Formats: sequence, C-alpha cells, structure tokens
Amino acid sequence: MSRIVMKFGGTSVANLERIRAVAERVKQEADAGNQVAVVVSAMAGTTDQLIKWVEEASPLHDAREYDAVVSSGEQVTAGLLALVLQNMGISARSWLGWQVPFKTNNVHGSARIENIDTTQMIDRLEDNIVCIMAGFQGISDDNRITTLGRGGSDTSAVALAAALNADRCDIYTDVEGVYTTDPRIVSAARKLDKVTYEEMLEMASLGAKVLQTRSVSMAMNHGVRVQVLSSFTDKPGTLVVDEDEIVEKQVVSGIAYAKDEAKITLVGVQNTPGIAGEIFGPLAEGNVNVDMIIQNISEDGKKTDLTFTVPEGDVDKAEAILKDTGHVKYAKLMSDTEVVKISVIGVGMRSHAGVAARMFETLAAKGINIQVISTSEIKISVLIRAEYYELAVRALHTVFGLDSDQE
Ligand code: ADP
Ligand code: ASP
Ligand code: MG
Repeated sequence: MSRIVMKFGGTSVANLERIRAVAERVKQEADAGNQVAVVVSAMAGTTDQLIKWVEEASPLHDAREYDAVVSSGEQVTAGLLALVLQNMGISARSWLGWQVPFKTNNVHGSARIENIDTTQMIDRLEDNIVCIMAGFQGISDDNRITTLGRGGSDTSAVALAAALNADRCDIYTDVEGVYTTDPRIVSAARKLDKVTYEEMLEMASLGAKVLQTRSVSMAMNHGVRVQVLSSFTDKPGTLVVDEDEIVEKQVVSGIAYAKDEAKITLVGVQNTPGIAGEIFGPLAEGNVNVDMIIQNISEDGKKTDLTFTVPEGDVDKAEAILKDTGHVKYAKLMSDTEVVKISVIGVGMRSHAGVAARMFETLAAKGINIQVISTSEIKISVLIRAEYYELAVRALHTVFGLDSDQE
C-alpha cells in the first residue's frame, strides 16, 4: 500500500466527461489499495474568465477579493469529482484550502504556503476515503482566501504530498511528460524519461509552464518524488529526480521560452558610484523583479546606458518608479514588450565549454539579433525580438541534438 497524491490540471477536468475519466484513474489507484489524495485545478479557461471578470469589475481591484473570485473555479471541480467518485461506489469528499487548512502568508495573488495541518485528512485517508482538494488556494492568518499564483495547483499538490509524507506525487496534464521544449511549438520535441530537479527548476522558471516553479523547488527541498504524465494516455511520463539518478547526462537537456518579459532601457545615465543601487533599489522595494541586466559605459566614462528586463505586467509600475526616482538623471527611458527570452538548460553545461558560442552562432545564422544575455551555471538566456521566438527555439532544438528521431 502506498499513499499517493494525484493532481489533475485544467484540461484534464475541462468537462464532466473528462472528470469521469479522471475518476476512473483515481478509482484504479484506490482499488489497488492505495491511500489517495487528489488535487484538482479549475476547468480549462475558467481561471482566465474569472480574472477577466475581476478586471472588468474593478481595474484597480482589492487583491483579497481577486482571490475570493479566482479561487472559485477549483471549488467546482473538487465537488464534482467527489460526486462522480461517490456514484462509482468510492468514498470521497472534497476540501477547500481553508478546510484542510492550507495556511499561507497574505501576499494575495501569489501567496506562499506556510503550514498544512493534515491531521484530519490523514484520518480520512486511513479510513480509505479519497480526499479531493481544491488546488491553487489557501487561507491567510487574517482568515482571508489566498491564491498561489498561476499554475499554483502544482504547488498545492507537491506541498500536500510533502505534508502527507506521500510516496508519490503524480501530476497529470495534457502532454505526456516534460519535453525537451514545449511540444506545442516544436513537433520534434522529445519526452524526457527523467529530468533533474535543478534542470526542471530552471526550465519552469524560464518559461516551461508544465510545472509551476515553486512546486519544483518545494519538491527538491522536501525530496518529493514527482512524476509528470498525461491524463489522456497510459504512457509512462517524466520522473523528476536527483542528478545522480541520471546516468547519461546531456550537455543541453531543454530549451525554454518566456514571452511575458519586457525590456527597459535607461539612456545616458550619470555614471557615478552607487547609481545601480539607486535605480534597482527602488524597483526591488516596489516588488519589481529585475532579471537580465546589461550596462554600457560611454567612451569618456561619464555616461552609461542600462538595459534590463522585468515581467511584462510590471512595466508601468517600473516606469513610474524610475520616473519618481528624482535624483537619478538619465536622458531617456524606453520600454519594449515585444521581446522573448530564450534559454538553453542542462546540468552538463557545468563541464562543457562552448554552449554559449554555439547558441549565439545558431541565432546569428538565422539573422536573429541578441539584445541581452544572462548566464548561470546550467543555463544561458538571451533576449530576442518576439517575432523570432519559434524560429529560434526550433533552430536551437536541432543544433543541440534534441530533435526526436521520428521527425
Ligand atoms: P495543466 O492545466 O495540466 O496544469 P499547463 O497548461 O499548466 O497544464 O501545462 C502544460 C503545458 O505546458 C503543455 O500543454 C505545454 O504546452 C506546456 N509546456 C511548455 N514547455 C513544456 C515542456 N518543456 N514540456 C512539456 N510541456 C511544456
Ligand atoms: N486554475 C489555476 C490557474 O489556471 C491554477 C492551476 O491551474 O494550477 O492558474
Ligand atoms: Mg499548470
């Protein structure tokens, strides 16, 4: 007997027919004698619709009410799955975040889980009751509903698996696992049998939305055995594992892209000591996450141009902060949202030189200009014009030997 957590994403619970198919999978695991906790997302498209309504109702909305509205999609699917399972003769009940409770901080819209009290749920699991939890939500100390950020049900599932000390956390989605790149963009993308926590963390944070980034860091920190697999087929998925479980290490194991980036350039900044702190300090205080940075100092050393990236949704806020930073003198502020960040990722890069050069040559051969570069031990990211992103991802996928043999 094992204790398992199964998580089903939006496409997998998009309508009653699919919820019935999900129930069949849950039943199989329960019939095999496992204790089963299930985490569900809202039906595909529901969360987008809820967010739209909130924005229409109030453009500068109260974040607490945003969470009250957008968390509601998961309530419906959790209840429906419990009903369908009950009709199949399986004991099941649904739980909302506050009922568990899933305690979070009060950063509405992207709250962090702080504590999960699983006492009641464990009692039910031990009585062989399938426990279905609404993903994406929790409750703050002020007794308000919180949500965990887009894609947050993955994090709910991994957190629950860690708290329940589950043997497995199976993330069921609409693709067959983690691929070398987004299979919807590159048809030659190859499914990975295994991927390391570190690579998965980079892939997720650099744009591969198959797992929410926080779910991966949580799995890594708590040693949760995560598997990503399809709810539509019975093929084996991808296991997220420690590096020593991978025998043949690829130099590059994946390519990711992120479209929600924006580039800000400050032209003609006075080049005096401390200037970077005066610019980036207020941005950090305003919770604007700065990612890639380049600085070009003029020949006489008196002026500098600073280019950096921020999340697309934060451009207006960043501009307002920079305009407000009165004592920082610059000639011009420019922002550009028509950019995409492309990243190549692989733990093998630690011991292999030349990946960056190969990446840059490949993009140059396609006539794609690189605007900003950033690197870490196991990844290289470049910022390019948005219109070239598919071309760039495909070209890099081929050059780094990732294309599947079938293509
Ligand atoms: P769910 O609703 O099940 O949580 P998501 O839409 O959040 O599903 O994530 C699955 C999607 O992630 C896939 O449909 C795919 O387009 C996208 N994706 C991006 N990069 C990758 C990748 N490297 N491997 C697999 N899927 C990826
Ligand atoms: N329903 C939420 C979203 O669309 C959470 C999730 O699906 O993981 O972001
Ligand atoms: Mg998701």
